[in-house]
Amino acid sequence: MATYKTARRENLLEFLKNHPNSSFTVREIVSEMEKHEETRNLTSGSTIYRLLRELEHSGTVTRTIDPENREYVYSLTDSDEPAVNMRCKVCGKVYSADTETSRRIKEDIAACGDVAPGDEIELLVKCKKCRG
Ligand SMILES: [Zn+2]
Repeated sequence: MATYKTARRENLLEFLKNHPNSSFTVREIVSEMEKHEETRNLTSGSTIYRLLRELEHSGTVTRTIDPENREYVYSLTDSDEPAVNMRCKVCGKVYSADTETSRRIKEDIAACGDVAPGDEIELLVKCKKCRG
């Protein structure tokens, strides 16, 4: 079941990423995803809504109110800065995680429960060079 949940989330993120700078209501997202064979059976309004709330909670998605029809609309949170850095504990070199990886790490942290991810996260790693 976890796999289905991940697939839906990936599809939803993929959809939002394909429409940067756009906001959608849950209804619009569902009807867009129903147009495509590969996502048709993955979507229901309640599922999309729940996923959006999770993504909003982790900061991946921003919810605003459309001033025209007073409906909630969702869009990807703008973030140019990589949120997650990896620092080699041997040589100190800093590597940035790509945006997608940063998002996942932040979501996982938010899913742990009692903590919320900060603006910046640093992971201690061992880089390729230092691993030998
Ligand atoms: Zn190193």
